[in-house]
Amino acid sequence: MIPYGRQYIDASDIEAVVRVLESDFLTQGPKVPLFETSIAQVCSAKYAVAVNSATSALHIACRALGVGKNDIVWTSPISFVASANCALYCGATIDFIDVDKHTGLISTELFEKKLIEAYASNKLPKVVIPVHLAGHSCDMVSIHRLCKKYDIKIIEDASHAVGASYKDTPVGSCTYSDITVFSFHPVKIITAAEGGMALTNCIELANSMQQFRSHGITRNEYEMDCESHGPWYYQQVELGFNYRMTDLQAALGLSQLNKLKQFVDARTKLVSIYNEKLADIGIDLPLLPLNCQSSWHLYIIRLKDEHNRLDTFKKLRDNGIGVNVHYIPIHTQPYYQKIGFEWGMFPNAEDFYSRIISLPIFPTLTQDNIDTVIRAVKTSLTFKA
Ligand SMILES: *Cc1c(COP(=O)(O)O)cnc(C)c1O
Repeated sequence: MIPYGRQYIDASDIEAVVRVLESDFLTQGPKVPLFETSIAQVCSAKYAVAVNSATSALHIACRALGVGKNDIVWTSPISFVASANCALYCGATIDFIDVDKHTGLISTELFEKKLIEAYASNKLPKVVIPVHLAGHSCDMVSIHRLCKKYDIKIIEDASHAVGASYKDTPVGSCTYSDITVFSFHPVKIITAAEGGMALTNCIELANSMQQFRSHGITRNEYEMDCESHGPWYYQQVELGFNYRMTDLQAALGLSQLNKLKQFVDARTKLVSIYNEKLADIGIDLPLLPLNCQSSWHLYIIRLKDEHNRLDTFKKLRDNGIGVNVHYIPIHTQPYYQKIGFEWGMFPNAEDFYSRIISLPIFPTLTQDNIDTVIRAVKTSLTFKA
């Protein structure tokens, strides 16, 4: 089976991890801060806080922005469940902004409309979490403008988008947001086995996220409510978590970061092959929004009304192509239905979901592999009866 995504690990990655194993620190050593400053530099952000997953990064980002029980958070229904769960972890209320039918990214028009209604009924969100699906940046200029107008904070879920850019600025620079989150799960652009990062240009948010990552503990005297008892002293000032990244993971992440451009270039090359070879078979190919250079985490094709998605998908799997679907709309998940969401609430997301198939895309996909995938797509495409 050719999977839809997989990691690329070379000898330098292995050596980097082994060197940590032989060192004094398996965790809380020098590699984590080095990974943080390196990512921050690559993304032109001031601060980066490494954690054990993007899920944790989203959680501490929400906490640092003060999301709590009486707050509302909005995100995209076309995302992994973690984009919404982070609000629920904080006891907040979650809601969704419907997507653009063609891109699967949150629709700026529908966002503005929802804001006007929310303003009228005094139900504005505290935080909005745009999701850069497939590595394509959302329309951050418009989202930022609208959020400024209504005094809303922004967390970019850029789990797919490390290595992408928007208006010639790296995603992660937080030019249009308060915090940006990356994932280093093995299917993502670079991996740390598991891992995540929260970037920001605000020192207070960075400090707060550092606290939440490690039990709500501080060793900075200026954050304590009394004088330090001595060099051993720390204070727990918040109820935090153990979301720390290990030095093993950070060493792998650092080594992978060296290959970021190579990975994104390889993915981009595969996209141009798909785009060319699938151009005239009557399906919709990924639509790249204006002003953005994608990291191409996913290559999502959309079938037309006359196609049978389920049958096509099954045929592709039978042909050894590990296709997938990104994503099942979050509001249709049983847990979300239990808290009040229903099918029909976000029709564009549901329409997008009914058509999509993610084709394999990862740096080591060979010419032979991609030819196999393209042939399989052509022979598997079936029509409704
Ligand atoms: C993968 C992913 C996450 C969660 O990432 P983890 O590092 O596995 O916690 C969150 N949001 C999106 C959009 C993702 O694709």
